[in-house]
Amino acid sequence: MHHFHYRGNELYCEDVPIQKIAAEVGTPLYLYSHATLKRHFLIFNEAFEGIDRLVCYSAKANTNLALLKLFANLGSGLDIVSGGELYRGLKAGFSPDRIVYSGVGKRVDEIDYALNTGILMFNVESLEELAVINQRAGLLAKKAPVAIRVNPDVDPGTHPYISTGLEKNKFGIDTKTAIEGYKVASRLENIDVVGIDCHIGSQITEAKPFEDALKSLERLITELKALGIKIKYLDMGGGLGITYDAESPPHPREYARAIIDSLQGVDLQLILEPGRVIVGNAGTLITRVLYRKAAPVKEFVITDAGMNDLMRPSLYKAFHAIQPVVKTAHAPIKADVVGPICESGDFLAVDREIPDVKQGDLLAVMSAGAYGFTMSSNYCSRLRVPEVMVADERFYVVRARQTYEDLVAGETIPSFLNS
Ligand SMILES: *Cc1c(COP(=O)(O)O)cnc(C)c1O
Repeated sequence: MHHFHYRGNELYCEDVPIQKIAAEVGTPLYLYSHATLKRHFLIFNEAFEGIDRLVCYSAKANTNLALLKLFANLGSGLDIVSGGELYRGLKAGFSPDRIVYSGVGKRVDEIDYALNTGILMFNVESLEELAVINQRAGLLAKKAPVAIRVNPDVDPGTHPYISTGLEKNKFGIDTKTAIEGYKVASRLENIDVVGIDCHIGSQITEAKPFEDALKSLERLITELKALGIKIKYLDMGGGLGITYDAESPPHPREYARAIIDSLQGVDLQLILEPGRVIVGNAGTLITRVLYRKAAPVKEFVITDAGMNDLMRPSLYKAFHAIQPVVKTAHAPIKADVVGPICESGDFLAVDREIPDVKQGDLLAVMSAGAYGFTMSSNYCSRLRVPEVMVADERFYVVRARQTYEDLVAGETIPSFLNS
């Protein structure tokens, strides 16, 4: 069942015509399908049926409070990478004991916040961080539950900017140093060693890298056992890819099967941190065509959404399918779909066959639910766009469009400049 579909010539999200939403809310806007979000979470979670596991949705893919609340309601835990995400998670009602905290650069104030909140565990990414967490826990008279994020040195076969499990990446601790880290951690007064963790990259489209990473972790788990270090959690991170174009990533059930099969004999609670696979294809960016323009060698379609609204094409040369919100019978054209920003890197698509759109037509930039809004910015003092959630035949603005006042909120002009 597809929740973005045509009825006649018109694109709907669930039972709502997208044209209607654009008319009422204005463009650009992010649009999420509640039914798709829910279905994706349940399919992923149920793929691990019968296994002792906790699925911790990875907040940074999409942190809108309405989405977080939905996942909290469905029994999800949360994977966070900042104090801000912890704040959002608590606001959305996640229980602290279902929150895991990853990230290479946790600040002291963020560590204190997480310690005072009582999260499930810190995924520690360096020995220096471990020492700081121990010290802060001591000052706060707490014991910090930690896993060490291991860098298993596997190639996820993905874009270099989104691979995180290679020896040259900044993430985690290499397998040799990790054992050292566990020995140190197990002797620290205010550290409770509870788990082992990895996260090898994002948009991974085969099962093999996950199996390789798991094998590497299992060798470490055996070594830890021999050292008398007992852990409870095995955190496999996130990273399962989705179909943007022609990729055919494993279905969550195949992914789960590959992990479960490799898990034989490991008696730990499994933690998973899916982000993209849950929200990516549950969202679109709706934009209006402002102008058409023909250059000597190219045709341009200029839209009201730009790289500040959806950064992935500029940042990773990522592909997003672009569909008309109302289909026409005109022959398609080949064009660059570009935004209004003063950068040549400001494009949504390059040399793309798209419908022969006209000024004022609406386009849907598909698969924009993950790393879309969360990566957006106010560059060029453009207002951050609204987010809308559709549920059946109704829609809800779950984040209002910014105003010009929002844009300058918090800025001040020092008095000496006002003379
Ligand atoms: C970003 C991230 C995830 C989620 O990755 P996806 O590719 O969106 O599934 C999970 N865990 C950690 C530590 C991350 O940084």
